[in-house]
Amino acid sequence: MAHTASSHYIGRFAPSPTGPLHFGSLVAAVGSWLDARHHGGRWALRIEDVDRTRAVAGADSAILRSLEHHGLSWDGDIVYQTQRDDAYATTLETLIERGLAFPCSCTRRELKATGHPGPAGIVYPGTCRDGLAPGKRARSWRLRSPDTPCTFTDRRLGPQQADIATEIGDFIIRRGDGLFAYHLAMVVDDDDIGVTDIVRGADLLIATAPQMALRDALGLPRPRHLHLPLAMHDNGRKLSKQTRAEPIRDVDAADNLTRALRFLGHAPPSHLHGAPPAEQLAWASAHWQPGALPEGDRTAA
Ligand code: GLU
Repeated sequence: MAHTASSHYIGRFAPSPTGPLHFGSLVAAVGSWLDARHHGGRWALRIEDVDRTRAVAGADSAILRSLEHHGLSWDGDIVYQTQRDDAYATTLETLIERGLAFPCSCTRRELKATGHPGPAGIVYPGTCRDGLAPGKRARSWRLRSPDTPCTFTDRRLGPQQADIATEIGDFIIRRGDGLFAYHLAMVVDDDDIGVTDIVRGADLLIATAPQMALRDALGLPRPRHLHLPLAMHDNGRKLSKQTRAEPIRDVDAADNLTRALRFLGHAPPSHLHGAPPAEQLAWASAHWQPGALPEGDRTAA
């Protein structure tokens, strides 16, 4: 859908504080910032620390510092998911009341034995869908997956379809350790601030259908999605903390930004290469054109 400068646009960047930003996460931040600014929209910032077991002390402040050095200013207060358990609990209650969530007793080991692998891990075989077996206790909560395939259009990748029932199964919304699951947390958080546009890396394309299913179950509007090309290592693996992607250096902010813009198909004119971040970003937000984004994932040159 085409936007105009006056159209209502709320975007966001939602890093997990599992380490400092690397080039791939910088690309996601720059892409979502530019899309928001180009449309005269807001850009919110959320630290996705719902999974306390993965959060690394100090990573959140390192991320904020890097965003500042790269000129990526955000609007409003920063949201920390660790402060939002009440909102997640209320949403879970709503889903339970509507009969859309059910308790599950299955352990990971049991599921490994009974389920088959799918694109996002073991497909839940439906064991507890119709009630817990006698003597079993509830560990996690799952969303009843929709019967019909989920379809949506990505602004770069075009029409998408996923059959959650056969590819993922009823998925976890509250984990066995009591933590709320990422899908539930982000849907509640995005709705709370009225996000209209999600712009993030294509590694999260697979998360989109379950997140849409949750929104549909809650009767929430669906945001638009734009999944950006992924930055890859030379060996074809995606840049991530797991693949030991190097943190970006704040002292190199101007050069990092030129690289990120080039990666996104928006290389600034040569007189702006390495120019102060604010100047590069002003040029790029004026010239932002999602149609110019590269079609495939690419090496982070
Ligand atoms: N927290 C996720 C990550 O750092 C991003 C989630 C999102 O943008 O929806 O990969």
